[in-house]
Amino acid sequence: MGKKRIYELARELGMPTRDLIAALERLGMPGMTTFHMVSDEEAEVIRGLIAEHKGTLPSEAGVAVAEAKPVEKKAAPAAPPRPPVVAVLGHIDHGKTTLLDRIRKTRVAAEEPGGITQSIGAYQAQVDGKLITFIDTPGHRAFTAMRARGAQVTDIAILVVAADDGVMAQTLEALDHIKAAGVPMIVAINKIDKPEANPERVKQELANLGYIPEEWGGDTIMVPISALTGQGVDELLEMILLVAELHGVSGDPQGPLEAVIIESHLDPTKGPVATAIVKNGTLRERDVVVVGTAWGRIRALLDHQGKRIPAAGPGTPVQILGLSGVPQAGERVEVVASPKEAEELVEKRLEAERAQRMARPKLSFEELLRAAQEQTKKLSLVVKAQTVGALEAVKLELGTIQAEGVELEVLHAGVGQISESDVLLAAAETQGQPLIVGFGVKVDPKAQRLAEQKGIPIRTYEIIYDLTLDVERALKRLAGPEYREVKVGEALVLKTFDLRGVGRVAGCSVRAGKVVRGGKVRVLRQGREVFVGEIFSLKRFAEDVKEVPQGYECGIRIRDFDDVREGDVLEVYVLEEVPV
Ligand code: GDP
Repeated sequence: MGKKRIYELARELGMPTRDLIAALERLGMPGMTTFHMVSDEEAEVIRGLIAEHKGTLPSEAGVAVAEAKPVEKKAAPAAPPRPPVVAVLGHIDHGKTTLLDRIRKTRVAAEEPGGITQSIGAYQAQVDGKLITFIDTPGHRAFTAMRARGAQVTDIAILVVAADDGVMAQTLEALDHIKAAGVPMIVAINKIDKPEANPERVKQELANLGYIPEEWGGDTIMVPISALTGQGVDELLEMILLVAELHGVSGDPQGPLEAVIIESHLDPTKGPVATAIVKNGTLRERDVVVVGTAWGRIRALLDHQGKRIPAAGPGTPVQILGLSGVPQAGERVEVVASPKEAEELVEKRLEAERAQRMARPKLSFEELLRAAQEQTKKLSLVVKAQTVGALEAVKLELGTIQAEGVELEVLHAGVGQISESDVLLAAAETQGQPLIVGFGVKVDPKAQRLAEQKGIPIRTYEIIYDLTLDVERALKRLAGPEYREVKVGEALVLKTFDLRGVGRVAGCSVRAGKVVRGGKVRVLRQGREVFVGEIFSLKRFAEDVKEVPQGYECGIRIRDFDDVREGDVLEVYVLEEVPV
């Protein structure tokens, strides 16, 4: 009643939202967006315009209106849409599990009486004849654990925030994890059935963090729901489909296989069992696959209801039977030509793992940073502190650090000890060099172990100044070393020789320090600098030497300089790395 959003109107008119927006643009109503709210009167005008012009518009939009097909499909035949893969995140007790259960109960068509017996880690919900794939394990730990192995399985993240509790510590963590993953987000403001629920406060809190609700002119979609009563859940599901459409979530059943493990375990009767979500291509029974260091010819594929299926296409979660071992979440499934090839690949990986274990006892902070130096110009920090006040102080200090040519990004700043989820977030970082710093906090032993495994440096401090100093050092390392010139010696030219095919050689006596080959040289004539260059060759008698100390004589050839004269003074410098 009263108001409608553009996408709702599009649905009512039986056309894709984008086409409606394009058509309105051409018909003199530009600037419409998916979530734009129109009044009843405006909606009437739009209905009239579209009815009037349907099929008669000569433009692309007109054709699309007439045929109700997405406009841009004509230009580039993209892969067809596929069910989006959705993960649910949020603070504990805000209703993630209740929401997943609710959708599962109401939207998964029960195959047989009795329904679903066992979860495979994901399920598919049916909404308006379309499918949405939900990952059953809520929380940002699982979400980022998958990403930490290099695979992005989630297309859309649902952030659940309880309307009676508001934004809490894990809400903030989840937000940072979602941001780092770069996936679109929908906020579900939950528990609106509760008398003390205050959805507006949640919106305000999120807006304060920079997540402005679309109805306030921002672009964060927020849907008030009650996972308990089901209120608003349909709208949430519609929003998921809409966001999937807007982001062009697609997959080609004929394309190369892209499938990621989301869950696995050892079943006493079936052996290793792993659930993968296929994102592109098709996985088939009898395929020979390699997953990490496990492999096998697929004995059976089971869908989310435990039913055997011959193949699984894009967007489908599927349980794989027949692997030699239990793979880890986040690992990719690869199809190979033969069991022999699979075994060879696995052997190679095991070998590499062994080599890595042998070669890397325990890297120091310095070594870890040095290892990354060539690859990146960004330091990605996870910062933990004991209290909000301390955290603010650290953030303030970090804000004052500057290093040229490098970027400092705070992936997450939170209160509490350094946890596994912090390490996972850092480990999933692909753009920058990750570093975890804690101020006045401890490191969870599990987090410590994981960090060692993943090679993520963790540092804790009791003094803010030490923390910022280390971060500054780390940044400078990433920026590359700085050099300064250091004078190492001086020589006097006693005589010069012009050698054919070589050039002029200066016969010198080293008056102070030493002369080094490759060193930088300043040629001074009567106190004035006449040339700056490099010592190209350095000889004692006929022999090439690296350096000549004070009191000795030598022959010096300066690169690209044949005007050195008797009486010139050669000052010799070397470049020394400035320690950071
Ligand atoms: P999770 O830790 O985020 O998975 O939260 P749960 O789904 O386990 O929910 C925590 C508690 O909140 C449970 O007692 C739920 O019954 C309750 N709860 C979840 N959603 C709602 C809701 O929409 N309304 C009300 N009143 N309670 C809810």
